[in-house]
Amino acid sequence: MSEKILNFIDGQLVEPKSNEYLDCYEPATGQVYASVANSGEKDLADAVASAQNAFPAWAATSPLNRSLILRNIAHGIKAHAEKFAKAETIDSGKPISASMKTDIPRSWLNFEFFADAITQFSSESHETDGGTLNFTMRSPLGIVTCIAPWNLPLYLLSWKIAPALAAGNCVLAKPSEVTPMTAFMLGEICNKAGLPKGVLNIVQGTGANVGSSMVKHPAVKAVSFTGSTAVGAEISKHAAPLFKKLSLEMGGKNPNIIFADCNFEKALLGTIRAAFSNQGQICLCGSRIFVERPIYEKFKSALVARINVLKIGDPLEESTDQGALVSKIHFHRVMTYIALAKKEGGTIVVGGEQKKLDGRCQGGWFMQPTLIEGLSNQCRTNQEEIFGPVATIAPFDTEEEVLAAANSTRYGLAASIWTNNLGRAHRMTAKIESGIVWVNCWMTRDLRTPFGGMKDSGVGREGGLDALRFFTDAKNVCVKYD
Ligand code: NAD
Repeated sequence: MSEKILNFIDGQLVEPKSNEYLDCYEPATGQVYASVANSGEKDLADAVASAQNAFPAWAATSPLNRSLILRNIAHGIKAHAEKFAKAETIDSGKPISASMKTDIPRSWLNFEFFADAITQFSSESHETDGGTLNFTMRSPLGIVTCIAPWNLPLYLLSWKIAPALAAGNCVLAKPSEVTPMTAFMLGEICNKAGLPKGVLNIVQGTGANVGSSMVKHPAVKAVSFTGSTAVGAEISKHAAPLFKKLSLEMGGKNPNIIFADCNFEKALLGTIRAAFSNQGQICLCGSRIFVERPIYEKFKSALVARINVLKIGDPLEESTDQGALVSKIHFHRVMTYIALAKKEGGTIVVGGEQKKLDGRCQGGWFMQPTLIEGLSNQCRTNQEEIFGPVATIAPFDTEEEVLAAANSTRYGLAASIWTNNLGRAHRMTAKIESGIVWVNCWMTRDLRTPFGGMKDSGVGREGGLDALRFFTDAKNVCVKYD
């Protein structure tokens, strides 16, 4: 019998009240391998009651003691890193090397980072004329909701949970129903780490059902969401009139701009990573590649050569570069974009087909990494987020031209610029409409920096002090002392 993924409520792993479950698929095989609780209002009510009981004591726990518990959680994940990595790979289809080197280390680092950050968190004070001191008190909000997507399951859930807990809040967490396994495993780690019951409740189920109920629940003071722009808009519609604090991390259609004066090899490697890491299923992926005309043909040929040696295979094998797409629905959605690109006049330079594997993975959702050229900036392929191993490539002649192209979408999450001209790098970064700009790198992260998008990619910033400020309420206290 396949494993049951339960809710973690009041420190216990519990069945959904309805006793209903959803199938969990292993993307590499296309087979059901587990089932996840399909929770509803009654499960949510239990989670809220538990969080309400836990909140006064957790809010009163000193930052140092909260920090020690978060550090224990980090140790717990680290101690079981291989188990977590294997689970993440089976659940999501991503290569085991990515789970081992990126997803799981970053998950424990998120807890470690905010364990440190809360001990360093301070607030402002202002000495005013005439013997008056203003200082800012920061207090936890109460019960907050953290909703995460499937592409970096534990990595992104922990990126929200850790600052929320560090700041003294009780959390209702909802992992994606597509990849619920590692969040399920986190519950036991939290109990062993000494996290009091009810401080973190992980409620599994669909976004439309329990996710939506969480957003609307009157006890919830803030919603931290990462996912698609469409769902972000839907959440805002319900949360904004209730005056809940909102942090929205949403979609991207990121430009990757390569100037002829760049370090060619570094730009090439960066472009491969940016376009195809996690099968292109990262919000930060550079899916629109712009290359300055003098090196366009040379760069394109070198890129094709590198794409051709990417190994598509069983995600559980160490040597695999490209795993499976996360679900059958998503696989077909991405393949639809290939057909659309052709209809829009694009030429498939490389890839564009499903990849059939033998043996264990013969039913898996694999596709070839794909590069397309000959498309206009305004076509749907270049405007809509595909979220798969699909990138477009186009030449450009001037900074002005490539800036206009880069800024031509509704999104503004991340951009990469490859150049050895310092002035150009600064001119471009000043004008590009993007919350994150990488110069001569891609996805190099420092957890202290503000993370988030402009335009339809985001509202608010995560990371460092921004996250701790989001998860606290500011109260200005004005003391007259003369
Ligand atoms: P999604 O929006 O479909 O779902 C995200 C989460 O929201 C899931 O847990 C889902 O169950 C839940 N949800 C769905 N409908 C809901 C509703 N009405 N109310 C409350 N919750 C609801 O996104 P996805 O397909 O899981 O993830 C892919 C998307 O996430 C892409 O658009 C990608 O760009 C984006 N993403 C953004 C970032 C970022 O930092 N900006 C990071 C990773 C992924």
